[in-house]
Amino acid sequence: MVAAYAYTQDKLFIGGEWVAPLDGEVVPSIDPSTGAHWALAAFGGKRDVDRAVEAAGAAMRGPWGRMPVAERAALMRKLGGLLEANAERIAELETRDNGRPLRETRLNITAEAQWYYYFAGLADKLDGRMMQINPALIAYTTRVPVGVVGAIVPWNAPTLVTTMKLAPALAAGCAMVIKVAEHTPVTTYELARLVEQAGFPKGVVNVVPGWGHVAGAHLAGHPGVDKLSFTGEHRTAQEIMRAGAANLKRVSFECGGKSPHIVFEDADLEQAANAVAHAGFMACGQSCALGSRILVARPLYAKLVDEVGARAAKLRVGNPLEATTHIGPQTHKDQLEKTLRYIDIGKSEGARLVAGGVRLTDAGRDKGYFVSPTVFADVKPEMRIAQEEIFGPVVSMIPFDSEEHALEIANGVNYGLTAGLWTRDLGRAHRFSSQLRAGTVWVNTYRIIHPAVPYGGFKISGIGRENGPEAIDEYTEPRATMINLEGKYPYPYA
Ligand code: NAD
Repeated sequence: MVAAYAYTQDKLFIGGEWVAPLDGEVVPSIDPSTGAHWALAAFGGKRDVDRAVEAAGAAMRGPWGRMPVAERAALMRKLGGLLEANAERIAELETRDNGRPLRETRLNITAEAQWYYYFAGLADKLDGRMMQINPALIAYTTRVPVGVVGAIVPWNAPTLVTTMKLAPALAAGCAMVIKVAEHTPVTTYELARLVEQAGFPKGVVNVVPGWGHVAGAHLAGHPGVDKLSFTGEHRTAQEIMRAGAANLKRVSFECGGKSPHIVFEDADLEQAANAVAHAGFMACGQSCALGSRILVARPLYAKLVDEVGARAAKLRVGNPLEATTHIGPQTHKDQLEKTLRYIDIGKSEGARLVAGGVRLTDAGRDKGYFVSPTVFADVKPEMRIAQEEIFGPVVSMIPFDSEEHALEIANGVNYGLTAGLWTRDLGRAHRFSSQLRAGTVWVNTYRIIHPAVPYGGFKISGIGRENGPEAIDEYTEPRATMINLEGKYPYPYA
């Protein structure tokens, strides 16, 4: 039976060993382009999470906690190198597991090595402050690893999201238990193999995929976990926050988005059309940074709607392993149904369907979860398709009449992750960016995510930042030490 699967991993990576689940299970993983089981994957249960948390705690108290920072950084660089060397193979596995086109997973996974290199470089720069309070009193701060980190990861980019948590956590000296999404366990086992090969001490990195309501919830409430780093839906973040309240866990959350992509009348129309179409359909629409609301200055509106509609109609939707494919399937059946449901909502709200709007079942796509790239025009800002995160390849095009009007629409949602704008007016670029309630603003470009540049959200898009030196703050506690240089302590009650 096992031979029927293209990939099998029936063990979890805990405490540096590959171990069978104690109270978990071995579950088939679905290839979303065929709807068929393609891999078998070990899921952890509560006892497995307990073991992993214990192993991470032991690593913090053991050799990892005492390791000179240069050695820690060297291990991270080794992991980056191994990731580069294995990028092609891991990219193919990720594409099988989540359906994202190979052309995108290949770029992502190759780039991930840069996170380990960048944060290895920061590891020996975690310096503090020194203060002379008065001639007899000095104070200084040091940065202490926050401790055992629980990382809870979604399915749309499992290795990239894991890496954005793991690299700064390792640089800070933390140990981690990784709970990747139930839909896409495979590539995180591969990351664990590379961690093992790089020679990290046992227990520094533990991989326990599993069900959100079982392994995820248990990790979120575990008293041995000091911090939770979560990427996913804000509703899950709320549950995790409640579960973590018992020991006041530190949290950082990267949640969803409904990003505005704004095209002013002075924009280069051709470049803007390229960008808004790419930003609206990348990752099969399953990206937190998706430019899903396209706000266009009225004089350009009709032309840009035509341009984006024409580009959407030409995108090749199909087998994500093929080099010519632009858009793969939705990663799982529930997401497919959610995307189709929102397309129906858009139609019933009165938006004008310009392109797509259907499930694709011809040409060998009948069992996969394919949706045609969908463009709605004449969308009103208050419509549900313009307010709620769909997480599928569906964009809403909205006209605006002035800068103030554009700003009001752009900020008029509960999300605040990213935004893009196209203008050749430098003053407007600065003025407008500074008023956007978004963690990242891209001007005349879109979706550049770089290890050196902080990434995270305002409002329900999250708490805290990944990437850049800001990410190190998420994995360290500042400790203040105050020293009385004279050693005198007059008794106040004398
Ligand atoms: P999700 O919230 O359903 O699941 C995310 C993870 O949480 C999974 O591992 C899941 O198993 C786990 N989980 C579910 N219930 C849990 C519980 N009760 N306790 C603990 N863990 C639990 O999100 P998803 O559907 O996997 O991912 C899509 C969402 O992720 C979108 O909203 C998207 O915008 C967001 N996302 C954000 C970023 C970012 O950087 N801001 C990046 C990627 C995805």
